Amino acid sequence: MSFLNQFSRRKFLVTAGASAVSSVLLKGCLGNPPDSSGTSQVQQVTTTNATVSPELAPETTTVKLGYLPIVEAAPLVIAKEKGFFAKYGMTDVEVAKQANWGSARDNVEIGSAGGGIDGGQWQMPMPHLITEGRITKGNQKIPMYVLAQLNTHGNGIAIANKHQGKGIGLELAGAKSLFGQLKSAGTDFTAAYTFPQVNQDFWIRYWLAAGGINPDAEVKLLTVPTAQTVANMKTGTMDAFSTGDPWPYRIVKDDIGFMAVLTAEMWKNHPEEYFAMRADWVDKNPKATKAILKGIMEAQQWLDNFDNRQEAAKILAGRNYFNVPEDVLLEPFQGKYNMGDRTVDDSSMAVLYWKDEKGSVSYPYKSHDLWFLTESVRWGFLPPDTLTNAKALIDKVNREDLWKEAAKEAGIAAADIPTSTSRGVETFFDGIKFDPENPTAYLKSLKIKKANV
Ligand code: CA
Repeated sequence: MSFLNQFSRRKFLVTAGASAVSSVLLKGCLGNPPDSSGTSQVQQVTTTNATVSPELAPETTTVKLGYLPIVEAAPLVIAKEKGFFAKYGMTDVEVAKQANWGSARDNVEIGSAGGGIDGGQWQMPMPHLITEGRITKGNQKIPMYVLAQLNTHGNGIAIANKHQGKGIGLELAGAKSLFGQLKSAGTDFTAAYTFPQVNQDFWIRYWLAAGGINPDAEVKLLTVPTAQTVANMKTGTMDAFSTGDPWPYRIVKDDIGFMAVLTAEMWKNHPEEYFAMRADWVDKNPKATKAILKGIMEAQQWLDNFDNRQEAAKILAGRNYFNVPEDVLLEPFQGKYNMGDRTVDDSSMAVLYWKDEKGSVSYPYKSHDLWFLTESVRWGFLPPDTLTNAKALIDKVNREDLWKEAAKEAGIAAADIPTSTSRGVETFFDGIKFDPENPTAYLKSLKIKKANV
């Protein structure tokens, strides 16, 4: 027996019975030709333990992904912490907290080579806006690919305590006069989101407009970084805040405000935030991209097992991630919300990552990209001809084909892989319908809007 084999054997004896690796070493040592070297035994063990076959091996094991400290980020954090990225060969994934959405945008502009990020978590339609150079420095076009949806639900609108009992809830009919009174007093109802012209701006606008309040004329909307919002609501300079958990819940927990509405109530099983990367990175590293996607998919399935949510809350709440008390994540993770004069306790209303009542959460439906672009036209964020060119832009940015390839490689059941890029007609809480085959009809059906349709 060679020296290395003896070493391996001695190592086994020291860690006797500790792991499967040891038993493989022992087996090799005793059963195989004694003069085969110990190093090759060790290498063999490494190969046996890895699940990545050579043809799927990623081009690189290193990538830097950005996230914001809200529940949307969970699939990225969990894939890293539970070893799901590593399982598919992505052993050096850095999951990097971004100071705010503007920083995430700035960091993806420069890429990891310049000290930034290669991709990560996005509100919509940020990947499309960055691709078109609409929110980048000097309007530089930086092509991006949307690769998966991260989650549905998990967002809401918190209202300052001083408005408790004034009719502000899912419906706003009883609060209409309050908005007018505030405006005439010169203290317009002030609502904040964390980045303009994306999800959380859309959610508060949809809710106000459905309640007969024109968000461009009757309230003041502004961008405030998450950390500052809680303080602003405390000092009374802000009336409403639209964002992801755990921040709305934290406002309730700290007795600063109450939840008026959950996005799950406005549009059940709605599209929320997405995983997207720089197109140049994906084009250069298609196998690594699919390895990342497989890690995210596994994390999403793990997260949708509610038995894992306590552990998920513990990981996410950690100092190196969200840095919040663990308990502010626990209740929202179970679909439990204190809505002031009512409560919600329904796991189908909680943030979901893999599946919801409509089917796949993870799959990035092109029909949802189209809703975000249509809503951008509704509020004048994008010109009306966006709809004429929407299909070409979505086909360029949305890489649901890579999602499907990764899902097949990961052994996802065929029933869990959507066959159509459209989820079909969507229905909102106010009865409005969005038919992806006819976005103009949706715009026409909306009473309050900026677009001239
Ligand atoms: Ca969100």
